[in-house]
Amino acid sequence: MDDVWDLVVVGGGPAGSAAALRARQLRPDARVLLLDRADFPRDKACGDGIAAHGRDELALLGLPDLIADYRPTRHLSIVSPGGAEVHATVARPNHVVPRAVFDARLVEAARARGVEVRRHRVRALAVRHGHVVLDEAIAARAVVGADGANSVVRRLIGMADVPDRHTAIAVRGYADVPLDDDVQRIAMQGRGWPAYAWSFPVGDGSANVGFGMLLPRLRATGLPGREVLHGRLAELLPHLPARDLRAHHLPLSPGRPGAGAGRVLLAGDAAGLINPLTGEGIYYALLSGRLAGEAAVQAPGDPLTAYRGRLGRALGRHLRTTDALALAARSPRFIDAAIGVAARRKEVFDLLVEVGLGAGTVPPSLLLAVARGWLGRAVRGV
Ligand SMILES: Cc1cc2nc3c(=O)[nH]c(=O)nc-3n(C[C@H](O)[C@H](O)[C@H](O)COP(=O)(O)OP(=O)(O)OC[C@H]3O[C@@H](n4cnc5c(N)ncnc54)[C@H](O)[C@@H]3O)c2cc1C
Repeated sequence: MDDVWDLVVVGGGPAGSAAALRARQLRPDARVLLLDRADFPRDKACGDGIAAHGRDELALLGLPDLIADYRPTRHLSIVSPGGAEVHATVARPNHVVPRAVFDARLVEAARARGVEVRRHRVRALAVRHGHVVLDEAIAARAVVGADGANSVVRRLIGMADVPDRHTAIAVRGYADVPLDDDVQRIAMQGRGWPAYAWSFPVGDGSANVGFGMLLPRLRATGLPGREVLHGRLAELLPHLPARDLRAHHLPLSPGRPGAGAGRVLLAGDAAGLINPLTGEGIYYALLSGRLAGEAAVQAPGDPLTAYRGRLGRALGRHLRTTDALALAARSPRFIDAAIGVAARRKEVFDLLVEVGLGAGTVPPSLLLAVARGWLGRAVRGV
């Protein structure tokens, strides 16, 4: 058994790297170990879209230029399930960075900051003498479980998985696009709603393309998942044949299991922190990872209480907002109305971006405007 680590992080995705980076940023003498079952660089099924809010997190972690060599994307185009459209310029640009690159850079930055990085798949967890012991070999004062959607750490501490009704599944691939294509496109689909396809140009002549839907809706088709996901992607983006297709689950935040147990804190997908309206999870992974790393080194006596409080202050209102909107969005007409209002009013478009990609909330006046549009569509039967 090693000496006791101040913090052991399981998973080297954005949540885990953020936790490790933050811990060493605040306490440069902290002994921090980052474990991942894979060597980096490694691929991860993802749309690769990094919102401006994610870049804010990188700056807080002391890495403001981590993705500065990637082209910013300013244009966003959304088609709603009923055909309402909005094409607008976002207030702050987004980036598209393949995860094989992004995650490897984060892990490298953590290593450069003094985090020890090891390839290791965690299989067991026990609590002994006030420490968390992983695989009978690694002891820690605190553990951050950042091991993704199918988190083993979450199961080992006895917390429930995100229920299927709050789990989406999506496939992503890469397609060739013109070098000057700089529009992020989202095409929603009424069939099996909620469901949508995307095309996010990287800026190098390729685009990340994909299609996602709720798991129960996929199962309800009675068809093999691969056939449905690949088929719908080809149907919605017929001009963009995709290669390197790869699918993964998305645990959506209305089904979030909680912040952890004892001295084990959950962050990112392990904590079920994916926006139910957009599937965005990188920003929440970076944010929750940062807060977990902070709590581990600043409140070693009771990191979970500190983490819960910080997470609640950062995301509590936002998560309650998206819980409610996810319920409303079960009706495709609600989304048609919201996109319709956003197409007419730029401030509403900006606000929807904040709610979909950041920590935004919705003022009652906007809810009223969307509800009016929703009602209008219902009355007109469109
Ligand atoms: C198809 C698809 C498209 C998406 N598109 C976007 C998008 O465009 N923008 C966006 O913001 N979000 C998107 N998301 C969500 C985003 O990918 C996740 O929210 C994000 O990866 C969460 O980061 P994480 O660090 O929590 O987990 P992950 O990135 O999944 O990292 C978890 C890490 O844990 C490691 N691990 C797992 N088990 C163990 C173990 N037992 N022991 C050790 N290590 C382990 C894994 O190897 C992995 O490196 C998408 C998701 C999918 C599936």
